[in-house]
Amino acid sequence: MNSQKSSLKLVTKSVYSNNRSTLKIRDTFIGCGNFTIIAGPCAVESQEQIEAIAFHINKLNLKFLRGGAFKPRTSPYSFSGLQEQGLFWLRESADKYGLITVSEAIDLESLYLVSEYADIVQIGSRNMYNVTLLKAAGAIKRPVLLKRGMSATISEWLMAAESIMVQGNESIILCERGIRTFETSTRNTFDISAIPVVKEISHLPIIADPSHSFGSSYGISSISMGAMAAGADGLLIEIHPKPKSALSDGKQSLSLEEFTMLINRLHALKEPLNLNF
Ligand code: PEP
Ligand code: MN
Repeated sequence: MNSQKSSLKLVTKSVYSNNRSTLKIRDTFIGCGNFTIIAGPCAVESQEQIEAIAFHINKLNLKFLRGGAFKPRTSPYSFSGLQEQGLFWLRESADKYGLITVSEAIDLESLYLVSEYADIVQIGSRNMYNVTLLKAAGAIKRPVLLKRGMSATISEWLMAAESIMVQGNESIILCERGIRTFETSTRNTFDISAIPVVKEISHLPIIADPSHSFGSSYGISSISMGAMAAGADGLLIEIHPKPKSALSDGKQSLSLEEFTMLINRLHALKEPLNLNF
């Protein structure tokens, strides 16, 4: 741990007087006792789909809407996103309800486009090692949600955050999304240890993504509650009005009814854990 610490600078706790950084986006705070729940489809598929989801998120009094418009798919035959049209519909639905948006950039071209439309730019697991993209993300004026690479150690992940920060962008949210292990029962292995380890080393907020970790809807609630109790600053959850007909990641997406049930369970935990959302 000491050798990790000595090579990291801006991400480490010592640079912040209270050891925790808080991000402010409009009048909403991420970190420091605020539990940030970001939900939405894996991919924006149509205006009706994203509008129905935005409506539901707003009804639950939540503030963050995600939706991919550029999808880094493993297979070249899979749906790869609606690109600018998707970003436009995401923005339009979010603005209707005053929601803050998150969308993924996969290369330099999409980075500039996503940062024009979305409030937070996601750099996904497959790009955590993309130094060119990290460097460019350091120069944009948007907060970056940086997912852990699927085979990345925590120190490599923090070094990726350092690479963004050193370029001048200090607004980073880390996201644990599961790592590859020998286990095949789940899509990835959710590394709950990453939460206390990151909090020991870094001031940055860390959220958990149970959807890409677990990979099936039935485990999302358990992993979400575990992450919340372990000290995560929030969650990123995939939801869909009709998970069975989703164009990507339907198996791990919660229906809107299942999502409501999860939020109710999380509400019951927030008081004992002293969190706000
Ligand atoms: C996503 O958030 O839809 C995504 C592709 O995630 P990851 O980069 O964690 O696989
Ligand atoms: Mn997905």
